Amino acid sequence: MKIAFIGLGNMGGGMAANLVKAGHEVTAFDLAEPAIERARGNGCAIATSAAEAVAGAEAVVTMLPAGKHVAGVYADSIIGTAPPAAILIDCSTIDVATARQVEDVAGAAGYTMVDAPVSGGIAAADAGTLTFMVGGGAAGFERARPILEAMGKAVIHAGQAGAGQAAKICNNMLLGATMVATCEAFGLARKLGLDLQTFYDISSKASGQSWSMTSYCPVPGVGPDTPADRNYEGGFAAALMLKDLKLAMDAAREAGAFVPMGDEAEELFERFVNSGNGNKDFSGIIRMIEEQH
Ligand code: NAD
Repeated sequence: MKIAFIGLGNMGGGMAANLVKAGHEVTAFDLAEPAIERARGNGCAIATSAAEAVAGAEAVVTMLPAGKHVAGVYADSIIGTAPPAAILIDCSTIDVATARQVEDVAGAAGYTMVDAPVSGGIAAADAGTLTFMVGGGAAGFERARPILEAMGKAVIHAGQAGAGQAAKICNNMLLGATMVATCEAFGLARKLGLDLQTFYDISSKASGQSWSMTSYCPVPGVGPDTPADRNYEGGFAAALMLKDLKLAMDAAREAGAFVPMGDEAEELFERFVNSGNGNKDFSGIIRMIEEQH
């Protein structure tokens, strides 16, 4: 299949490479030269603009930083330029409102579009083991599914337009809040003189158990190997967790949802990122929490 891929950064680079590996003819575009060179090395044909990439495409995949980039690229280079028969798939993490607006405009112009944000980081993008949460009609989902399967291990239909983004930010709001709660539980356990491995052994089999505790323990040397064992390098950057929490708080304000724990998690991650930790894994927030009194 002829696939246009726009946005070849940390995530998109590996995703485009996996589409090539699956036998697709990928024409790629990015604004950044190093991203273009990597895509060329991975077997993508390189276009000189997004409009050139999408001309003649049977599918268009975008993996861009935020809503304004997605809205801009769609308005300037995709709607009216890609063949109307092309399936349009936005894999970026963006606000629900923009996702719905762009899908409305695409639908009115005769396109089928889905939002398909991902769970899983750069390693999963490279390995083709992402999880996709897809919003859009059933027909769009069925058309997008085989393309997404070439880049991921799970493709789940979340509901209508914007539902993929909604699922993603609700999940990450829960993750941000459970990570903060896990960090404060370890902090209190330490102050109460508990051995942290013993606390882990108990809590990971008791009702305080969560993914943040059992699979992604924020304490070095406790539980499975995690970014905590590598000085919080790699993993899921705190700046991206903050981005997702901000999207969740915007969506909650718009929908009138009461989200006190998400709100608190956003404030704490904002402090953590503003003190120079944006590139650290998000579980590194345990250090800031343990330094407080
Ligand atoms: P990134 O900044 O590495 O890549 C984005 C790419 O888009 C860059 O190469 C940039 O040059 C390009 N770009 C920006 N505007 C463009 C335009 N107008 N035309 C063409 N290219 C343009 O970001 P990333 O880490 O790859 O993340 C991409 C998306 O995936 C984001 O929405 C992010 O929230 C989401 N996400 C990231 C991760 C992660 O671990 N990095 C995990 C899950 C979801």
